[in-house]
Amino acid sequence: MIIVPLGVASATPTVTRHLSSVALWREGSVYLFDCGENTQMRMLQGGLKRSQIDCIFISHFDTDHFSGLIGLLSTLQLQRRENTLKLIGPKGLQDFVEWNFDFADVELQYPIEYVELEEGFEEERVVDEDEFYVEARPLNHSRFCVGYRFQEKDRPGKVDAEKAKAQGISEDWQYKDLKAGKDVELEDGTVVKSMDIVGHPRPGDSFAYVTDTRYCPNAVKLGKNTNILFHEATFTDSLSEKAEETGHSTAKVAARVANEAKTKLLVITHFSARYTNEYVLLREARDDFFPTWIATELRPIFTDPAHEKGIIEPRAYLKEINQDKKNSGNSNKKSRSGKKKKRFRKRKKVRKGKSTDNYSKSRGSSRSGSRSNNGNSSSSNNDNNERQPKPITPRTPFDDFDRF
Ligand SMILES: [Zn+2]
Repeated sequence: MIIVPLGVASATPTVTRHLSSVALWREGSVYLFDCGENTQMRMLQGGLKRSQIDCIFISHFDTDHFSGLIGLLSTLQLQRRENTLKLIGPKGLQDFVEWNFDFADVELQYPIEYVELEEGFEEERVVDEDEFYVEARPLNHSRFCVGYRFQEKDRPGKVDAEKAKAQGISEDWQYKDLKAGKDVELEDGTVVKSMDIVGHPRPGDSFAYVTDTRYCPNAVKLGKNTNILFHEATFTDSLSEKAEETGHSTAKVAARVANEAKTKLLVITHFSARYTNEYVLLREARDDFFPTWIATELRPIFTDPAHEKGIIEPRAYLKEINQDKKNSGNSNKKSRSGKKKKRFRKRKKVRKGKSTDNYSKSRGSSRSGSRSNNGNSSSSNNDNNERQPKPITPRTPFDDFDRF
């Protein structure tokens, strides 16, 4: 799983923060939690494909949490989506979406499956797939609000093939039975026990989305033993009365929930516009629960870096970088001794495609030839003579990566 915060503001966007939304990427599918204004643009900037969205979960009907929904659904229509989209949220969601498209006289060409939650429900499995499920529970906000937990199902333990073979297991069905926890009786009457052959089940990954809410036991239940608890922390403790009044949490409350839930990592979000520096909130949360991070827009959080290795690859400009590599090799031949050249090349190879020096050089030279000419030695002059610089206009610093 990769978690990408798309908007971390509360109530109103600021110069640097967008309205609430977070994307969960898993095995090529995207699950969106809340859909504030700008969500679809943030997805583009983060390298997430809108066509890969499977489900959208809405927490509640404060405008900052769903104001981007209609725009996003329209884009999916324009992209000629055909797959079913699941929309999950409080009761009224279907009316809201249908009214909007009726008003605009648009007939959606892709099916939407709605799951609506009514006030007073206690707990519901709103999505149940082979490999994971999503559980919803009501929170404690100034209006009906729902929290979610995305839970991968435990995978069966690994079979020790050598041990099984040594004990006389040979058939496929026998392996299947052992994996399913059943003991197997061989022809000579000996019983091979599943627990001797199969290791412990491997626990699934988990993520809880808890916003907006005061402290409540359901927040703890949703976050119980999760790998990531994504919890709102709108205010600092000095404004705890205001938090209580408006149905929000302070950073301390988020830390309390994380402690009680025994989560591995707390990520705080939904910052009030009054805090230009959210580290005040981080410090407060860390006083009580140290493994806390700040949700930073478009900065992905990997739940299992080993598993997700290779998903984020540098994109574009590789041609330019390779060209530069060739050129800098040539210039080296002129200016340095053979020994040095070799070492230089070797280092470059290791950092293939990731060399920021080269990247910025290619960016600089393509933006304005004169700047790079002034800036450097004969080697960059050669650069410009040998190839036609292509104009590159990165939209964000995150554009250098082709993600997911
Ligand atoms: Zn909110």
